[in-house]
Amino acid sequence: MTRNVYADYAATTPLCLPARRAMHDAFDIYGNPSSLHYAGAEARKLVEKARSKVAKAINAEPDEIYFTSGATEANIWVLSAFSTVKSNVEHSSMEYGRRGGIVGLESDHLGIVPSKPVIDLTFIDTMSILWVNNEVGTVQDMKSLASWATNSADKLFHTDATQAVGHISVDVRETGVDLLSMSAHKFGGPKGIGALFVRRGVDILPMLHGGHQEAGKRAGTENVIGIAGMGAAIEWATNNLDKSVPYLTKLRDILIDGILSILGTELTGHPTQRSPSIASFVFRGIDGQALVLALDERGVCASSGSACSEGQVGVSHVLKAMGYTEETGRGSLRLSIGWDTTEADVRYVIRAVKESVEELRK
Ligand code: PMP
Repeated sequence: MTRNVYADYAATTPLCLPARRAMHDAFDIYGNPSSLHYAGAEARKLVEKARSKVAKAINAEPDEIYFTSGATEANIWVLSAFSTVKSNVEHSSMEYGRRGGIVGLESDHLGIVPSKPVIDLTFIDTMSILWVNNEVGTVQDMKSLASWATNSADKLFHTDATQAVGHISVDVRETGVDLLSMSAHKFGGPKGIGALFVRRGVDILPMLHGGHQEAGKRAGTENVIGIAGMGAAIEWATNNLDKSVPYLTKLRDILIDGILSILGTELTGHPTQRSPSIASFVFRGIDGQALVLALDERGVCASSGSACSEGQVGVSHVLKAMGYTEETGRGSLRLSIGWDTTEADVRYVIRAVKESVEELRK
């Protein structure tokens, strides 16, 4: 029997109930947060309440949080403000024309990035390394990477934590990162809203010039409803980590074991140092996009890599960086799960993948 299973949480998540409620309540708060009157004050209060929640979730202070339109903008902000050296397994939003930074950190076959870049750092301000890889789920040792960058190399350290926040514990003080990007729709919040954490004392150029919003660093009337939803979602997701991490890890491992029982299948990314919600594979002899379509016919939403590179032909830059070739990386599949996923869903996905792979290999 066909059933609908959404196994693409790394592309985006459904809206969680607390975010839905907070946004619904915010519909009536129509004032401009910059206005001096009571309607403005009401909206300002909502924005500042959400800012405090975002800050608390990552152990930051509210004045270290700047709302943006998402992680893409947060990443581009860092790239446009600082000369950056980055890894070769970053999200595509870390490519930003001529200011896209320099690749100087090369991933190994499991997606692990070393601390020390292979290039001269003289004219570099910032090192940037993705916390959790969005395609293969590998989790970096953030504390060591940030410590090397800030203590040994005397550079700022930025991480794109879009797949980490709300999925694993993220503490900016404990890890010592200076800048951190996130996006609300990856942890149950709405799309089109995110934030950049900027450690106090780090002088960053404004992202958008104009009004004095976001402490004069990011002009434009705030997305009040989105911000309210993001605040509620991040609080909900981080307060639930004690339950969600073991729950998802167990489901993810059932998924990995089931899929690896299919002949000619390999896990991509690190076997243990990986996101509780991401399982990723390559299948010998088939095309990843054809597999995604075959799964869709069976009611399963999956992805052949990152949603942002869906439709691109060939092996992703991430798999290439990890040493896969056009041949060995062609049959890639990412399955990503979340709070609504059940064990029955996972068992169904395993069956659907088996059937689809058999069909495509015929
Ligand atoms: N970085 C990573 C690691 C991501 O997974 C994504 C979303 N695919 C982004 C950045 C961009 O986020 P957004 O599209 O919300 O700006």
